[in-house]
Amino acid sequence: MILDKEIKAQLAQYLQLMEGDVLLKVSAGSDEVSRDMLDLVDELANMSSHIKVEKTELQRTPSFSVNRAGEDTGVTFAGVPLGHEFTSLVLALLQVSGRAPKVDQKLIDQVKNIKGEYHFESYISLTCHNCPDVVQALNIMSTLNPGITHTMIDGAAFKEEVESKDIMAVPTVFLNGESFGSGRMTLEEIIAKMGSGSDASELSDKEPFDVLVIGGGPAGASAAIYAARKGIRTGIVAERFGGQIMDTLGIENFIGTKYTEGPKLAASLEEHVKEYTVDVMNLQRAKRLEKKDFIAVELENGAVLRSKTVILSTGARWRNVGVPGEKEFKNKGVAYCPHCDGPLFAGKDVAVIGGGNSGIEAAIDLAGIVKHVTVLEFAPELKADSVLQERLYSLPNVTVIKNAQTKEITGTDKVNGISYIERETGAEHHIELQGIFVQIGLVPNTDWLEGTLERTRMGEIVVDNHGATSVPGVFAAGDCTNSPYKQIIISMGSGATAALGAFDYLIRN
Ligand SMILES: Cc1cc2nc3c(=O)[nH]c(=O)nc-3n(C[C@H](O)[C@H](O)[C@H](O)COP(=O)(O)OP(=O)(O)OC[C@H]3O[C@@H](n4cnc5c(N)ncnc54)[C@H](O)[C@@H]3O)c2cc1C
Repeated sequence: MILDKEIKAQLAQYLQLMEGDVLLKVSAGSDEVSRDMLDLVDELANMSSHIKVEKTELQRTPSFSVNRAGEDTGVTFAGVPLGHEFTSLVLALLQVSGRAPKVDQKLIDQVKNIKGEYHFESYISLTCHNCPDVVQALNIMSTLNPGITHTMIDGAAFKEEVESKDIMAVPTVFLNGESFGSGRMTLEEIIAKMGSGSDASELSDKEPFDVLVIGGGPAGASAAIYAARKGIRTGIVAERFGGQIMDTLGIENFIGTKYTEGPKLAASLEEHVKEYTVDVMNLQRAKRLEKKDFIAVELENGAVLRSKTVILSTGARWRNVGVPGEKEFKNKGVAYCPHCDGPLFAGKDVAVIGGGNSGIEAAIDLAGIVKHVTVLEFAPELKADSVLQERLYSLPNVTVIKNAQTKEITGTDKVNGISYIERETGAEHHIELQGIFVQIGLVPNTDWLEGTLERTRMGEIVVDNHGATSVPGVFAAGDCTNSPYKQIIISMGSGATAALGAFDYLIRN
């Protein structure tokens, strides 16, 4: 039995929601993965009279496609979609059976209107928490539009294919055989990337806002809710709604909630914001701010939005190590997300750059998967909490090198090593390895504001205790500010402060 009792009980409830018949076309061999896949489809078929199974030969073995009776939908799973992808399989069964996906009608219409033939392939790992969003979005597209197909490929089951395509990060998506993108992507992002999203003139035609929030992370969401609850005209522009929490696995310090996961919290933030009259402009990046009669915010697509007040909550991003080879080999051995990409380095040698909490957590995680981990720390001591250091030093396949300055990431078409300088002696060393995880903290997303308002040496926006910046009417909150601590709950609090500060400013001016 491939599914345990508890999962089967939950699954039985979901399968009751199926609205029509589904035919699983199965391409299996005699290998172990094929046997597991056959076990899985047999168990599914035994649990619902709506599910039928038929043997066939597909492009990849082992794989199976999920079809409506008499019609191929183009949704295929290559490998066994368990782990994080089990939900993707359950949703595919429900959606192919006729249940409508839970996405905005606007997006459904956009997908249905896409003309042409689009064959997507997504390479994933079953432990990647960013992958299901991409798999589920592409499956929805495939179910809604007969010109679109999607195959999810488990990299662990198709190692040779993954190596031949030099895939070193998941999810990695190919469209019609060409690289399309990697990392987490929502349905909205995929549609926009295909050139079928909303345009600039639609945005420029909007009436001025009372409060315009730039950034859709915890700080921006909180600011938008507080502003909208005052009954004033509120808009929110976000490059990617959710912010950093979209890349966060477990959250245990969001007070009042013992445990949650980043994408789940992001979904509930979005739902909460949409409870109010907030104009959400997702997938839009601000590039310039200018104070005239109104505050004008220009977006990358050329649109200009106007507002009486602005709240900047653009957060932060991974800091790059900034040495030759980092940019060239990004996703070709240079990675930033150990949870996502760790499994692709199974049995290989890797390095983690950075000895803070995130670096040491990454090294501990990776040590369970890869052959050997070298931690390179610039300072004479690791900065991680002592409990993490103790755990690290108890592992047999980890080497820690302190006082090490990374000089270069080497490789040909992918990473083959790292050079560093021993800071005490100046001696240069080179380690041969296949993967490098960069974990050296974050930088604020404020470069676009250079010369506009006061920032610290680190680029953080300077705010007072009302969240006000050096420009009247412009407020800021969260990780992009000079707040000494960067946490979800702190960002939310400062988002609320900035919104109340902006409201106060509107009353007085
Ligand atoms: C791996 C990881 C794990 C973490 N774990 C925890 C934890 O367990 N507990 C905890 O409390 N904190 C944790 N944090 C920190 C926490 O996620 C941040 O403090 C919090 O997300 C900051 O919220 P924010 O809204 O200020 O910024 P962000 O979350 O960074 O959001 C910024 C928003 O601005 C948008 N944006 C950026 N530039 C532009 C632009 N030019 N135009 C338009 N939009 C833009 C982004 O797309 C995003 O929507 C973690 C962080 C990371 C990276």
